[in-house]
Amino acid sequence: MQNQFPEPLSGTVVPRFAEVATFMRLPIERDPKKLDIALVGVPWDGGTTFRPGARHGPREMRNMSTLMRRVHHATGVSPYELCRVADHGDAPVNPIDLADSLKRIEGFYARLHRAGAAPLTAGGDHLVTLPILRAIARERPLGIVHFDAHSDTADAYFGGERYTHGTPFRRAIEEGLIEPKRMIQIGIRGSVYAADEKDWAESVGIRIVHIEEFFARGPDAVIDEARAIVGAGPVYVSFDVDGLDPVYAPGTGTPEIGGFSTAEAQRMIRRLAGLDLVGADVVEVSPPFDPSGNTALVGATMMFELLCVLAPAVHRRKSERASPRA
Ligand code: MN
Ligand code: MN
Repeated sequence: MQNQFPEPLSGTVVPRFAEVATFMRLPIERDPKKLDIALVGVPWDGGTTFRPGARHGPREMRNMSTLMRRVHHATGVSPYELCRVADHGDAPVNPIDLADSLKRIEGFYARLHRAGAAPLTAGGDHLVTLPILRAIARERPLGIVHFDAHSDTADAYFGGERYTHGTPFRRAIEEGLIEPKRMIQIGIRGSVYAADEKDWAESVGIRIVHIEEFFARGPDAVIDEARAIVGAGPVYVSFDVDGLDPVYAPGTGTPEIGGFSTAEAQRMIRRLAGLDLVGADVVEVSPPFDPSGNTALVGATMMFELLCVLAPAVHRRKSERASPRA
């Protein structure tokens, strides 16, 4: 069976700079029924409130993801032996209509979800997480591990605009897509518009780990707490690259200094292994603000790290369905 799974093109056969740049050098597969995990781009940044450009994230992350090889060097996980993974293309968007884009993105992910494929997404700004959750969390709310400099739980911007990349988790909780008591935010920092800005998030039960607490306790202790908070239920991971310090990821819309490092982020993601992960995203990579390409490389690498904890979870569920425990 295993040799029927989609395989990434090896850099030992075809050089990495050659051929079409798909996610992880995997084939393109448009039929979600043929996938366990779909790598999807959402080239849309209509929710940004400051610097745009995340619409270019998927293209550049595809390019930099050609640097990823097959096997995780530290954990030994080989995702393409566990699951059928391929580049599923981009969600359809309408760059001049926010509401229409949200509907199109949701429809695309709903089709994936009906086919039983788990999504691993390259954004796009952080508002794209909302239509993804609308598509995959309607039948049961999810726990969330959220890496970010920002809480993204504001109510509205610009005199009543309820859909921006600063509001997705507020909307998702209001819509019953997230269990707020099973949600943790890690890396939160930066000046705020008002002292009570995070009161709503804390009042509904979200655990906010500000960056100062992260540095005081360290990544392992914080992720151990995250594991306890999300528990045994289904979990989605949302990784905003601005959670990283901008020295590692300058190409993003709303940078905040004093963040965690790429190595700390990798350590945290690896420690999510064993959770019942149902999907993940990497958002807010804005290539025009980092012509070096490094932020896109960071985004692609975090996608690979996430894939290496998501694939074992998807594989586990498949095996349990195939031979249910007595
Ligand atoms: Mn965010
Ligand atoms: Mn952010």
